[in-house]
Amino acid sequence: MMTPRSPSAPVSPLLLVFLLFVSVSSSLCSPASLHDAFLQCLLNNTQTLHGQQQEPSQMLHAPTDLSFPTLLGSLVRNRRFNTSSTPKPLLILTPSHPSHVQSAVVCARRTGAELRIRSGGHDFEGTSYVSRAPFLVLDMFNFRSVDVDVEQETAWVGTGATLGEVYYRIWEKSGLYGFNAGVCPTVGVGGHLSGGGYGNMLRKYGLASDSVVDAQIVDVEGRVLDRSSMGEDLFWAIRGGGGASFGVILSYRVRLVPVPNVVTVFRVWRTIEENATELVYQWQNIAPRTDNDLFMRLLLQPASSERQKGAKTVNASVLALFLGNADRLVSMLDGEFPELGLRKEDCAEMSWIESVLWWGDFDSGTAVEALLDRMPKSVSFLKRKSDYVQEPISREELELLWDKMIELGKVGFVFNPYGGKMGEIPVSDAPFPHRAGNLFKIQYSISWSEDGTEAEQSNLGKTRELYNFMTPYVSKNPRRAFLNYRDLDIGITENGENSYKEGSVYGVKYFAENFKRLVKVKTEVDPQNFFRNEQSIPVLPRSSSAMTQNSGSTERTRKVMVLVILFLFLKDLMTIYS
Ligand SMILES: Cc1cc2nc3c(=O)[nH]c(=O)nc-3n(C[C@H](O)[C@H](O)[C@H](O)COP(=O)(O)OP(=O)(O)OC[C@H]3O[C@@H](n4cnc5c(N)ncnc54)[C@H](O)[C@@H]3O)c2cc1C
Repeated sequence: MMTPRSPSAPVSPLLLVFLLFVSVSSSLCSPASLHDAFLQCLLNNTQTLHGQQQEPSQMLHAPTDLSFPTLLGSLVRNRRFNTSSTPKPLLILTPSHPSHVQSAVVCARRTGAELRIRSGGHDFEGTSYVSRAPFLVLDMFNFRSVDVDVEQETAWVGTGATLGEVYYRIWEKSGLYGFNAGVCPTVGVGGHLSGGGYGNMLRKYGLASDSVVDAQIVDVEGRVLDRSSMGEDLFWAIRGGGGASFGVILSYRVRLVPVPNVVTVFRVWRTIEENATELVYQWQNIAPRTDNDLFMRLLLQPASSERQKGAKTVNASVLALFLGNADRLVSMLDGEFPELGLRKEDCAEMSWIESVLWWGDFDSGTAVEALLDRMPKSVSFLKRKSDYVQEPISREELELLWDKMIELGKVGFVFNPYGGKMGEIPVSDAPFPHRAGNLFKIQYSISWSEDGTEAEQSNLGKTRELYNFMTPYVSKNPRRAFLNYRDLDIGITENGENSYKEGSVYGVKYFAENFKRLVKVKTEVDPQNFFRNEQSIPVLPRSSSAMTQNSGSTERTRKVMVLVILFLFLKDLMTIYS
C-alpha cells in the first residue's frame, strides 16, 4: 500500500534532479530535441558580428544529418576508434569564430555532457572524439589561419591548422625560417603544441611548446583570454600539460626558428648479421651528445633476413636531419661514429622545406603544396607506448632484445635522442619534465590493417609484452611517459571522487614533479572539472572536500542530467525513424 509522502520524506533523487535540470537549463529542455535546444542556447549566447560569421545553425551537426559520419570520421587517425561499436557524440560542433567557441562552452556546460575538443584528430587513444560518457565534439578545423610575421620572427597559428600548413606558410613568407615541431604534416597544432610536441630540431631548439610565446584560450566561463589576461600559471600549463584539461585553445603565437639554406638528410641501416648491435650500442652514446645541429633517429623493426631464407632478423635504421651541408656532416661522423660508416653518397642536400617532405615520406620531387593536404596517405589501427632511457642498454641486453622482438614479430621501436637544448631547459620551465638526464625516448610502435577484435587483442598484447620486457632498461619511480604518445594503459580516471588519486598514477608518469603545479592550476581555472577526459588533470582533493556536501550530489546530478539528455535524444531519434 502506498503511503502519502510526509513533508520530511526524501524526494526521489531522479525527480529532484529532473526538476533541477528543467529549472537550471530551461533553455535546453523546452525545445523538442537536444539539437534544437542547443541551437537556441547558441543563438542566445553568440554575439552577432555583422554578418562576418557563420550562422550558429551551420555549426551544429546532429547524428541524423547525412554528413555526420563523414564529418566525424574524416579526422579519425586511428581506426581502432572508427568502428560501429565506437561510442558516437550526441552532437558535433564546428565553430568558425571565437564567439562560437565561447557560446559552445557555455551551452555545453548546461547539458552536463562531456565536451571533447578536436584539432587534428591524431590522439593515439582517440580522446578528442570518443568517450564512454555522453559527449559532444568541438571540432576546431576551421581555426586554421597561420599569420607569419617575419620581422618579429613569430607566427600566430590557429589550433585547427596542421603542422604541414604551418611549415608551408612559414616557407611561403621566407626560406630563412622553419618551426621546431613534429615530422608528420597532418598532425594538428591544438593537441601537438598543448601536449609538448617535438620534431627533428628538438636537440637544437627544444619542443614546439618551448617556442610558444603567447596563446588565446576560451576558459570554462566562456571568456577569451590571452597570455596577459590568463596569467603565467595557465599559460605555463597549456605549453605541454595538454590543453584539454584547461579550456579550448584558439591559437598559439610561436617563435620561428632560423634554418640554413642547405640541410642534409640520410638513412642508413644494418641488420643483426651486419652488426646492428654495435651500431645501436654506440648510437646510445653518440646521438644524445653530438652537435646540436644533428638529430639521428633510430628505428628498430623485426624483419626477414635477406641472407638466410626463412630466418628473421632486426633491422636498425638511422634516419637523420643535419642543419648544415654533407661535407661537414660526413667528416664529423667519420670521427665520432665510425660504426655508422656514413659516406657522402648516403646523404642528400636540400632546402629545409624539402627535408620536411623527405621526413614526411613523400616521393622525391613531390610539390611543397602537398603539405597543405590534411588527409594522410592511409589510416591504420594503431597502438603506441613510450619510455625514457637514462643509462645505455648493454650489448648483451640488446641481444636479448633482438630475440624478444623476433619472437613477437611485429612491434617496432623509434628511439629519439635527447641532449642538446633539451638538457639545458629547466624542468620547471614547462609541464614537460623529461629534460637533462634522459638519453633518449622510446616509442613502441605497431600498426595493422586487419579488422576485428582478434587482431586488436593480439597486437595490443604483443606491445604490452614488449613494454614489460623493457622494464629493467628504462626510467623508474616513476616510469616516465610522453603525453603526446597517449597511452591509456598507464592509468585513467573516472573523473569521480577518486580523480586525484587516479590522476596521480598517470600524472607523475607524464609530468613528474610538474604534476602538482598542473593540479593547482586546474583547481584554480576549472574547479568543477568541466574540461575532462580519461587522462585529464584532476582538481585538488581539498577543493572537492570543500565542496563535500554538494560534490557527491553534483556528480550524481551530472550523471542523471546526462541520462535525461540521452532520453531526449533517443526519443528524438525514434520520432525521426518512426
Ligand atoms: C601519424 C602520427 C604522427 C605523429 N608524429 C608526432 C611527432 O612527430 N611528434 C610528436 O610530438 N607527436 C607526434 N604524434 C602525436 C601527436 O603530437 C599527438 O597525438 C597530438 O596530441 C595530436 O594533436 P591533434 O590536434 O592532431 O590531435 P587531437 O586528437 O585533435 O587532440 C589531441 C588532444 O589534444 C586536445 N586538444 C586538441 N585541440 C585542442 C584545443 N584546441 N584546445 C584544447 N585541447 C585540444 C584533445 O582534446 C586531445 O586530448 C603523432 C601522431 C600521429 C597519429
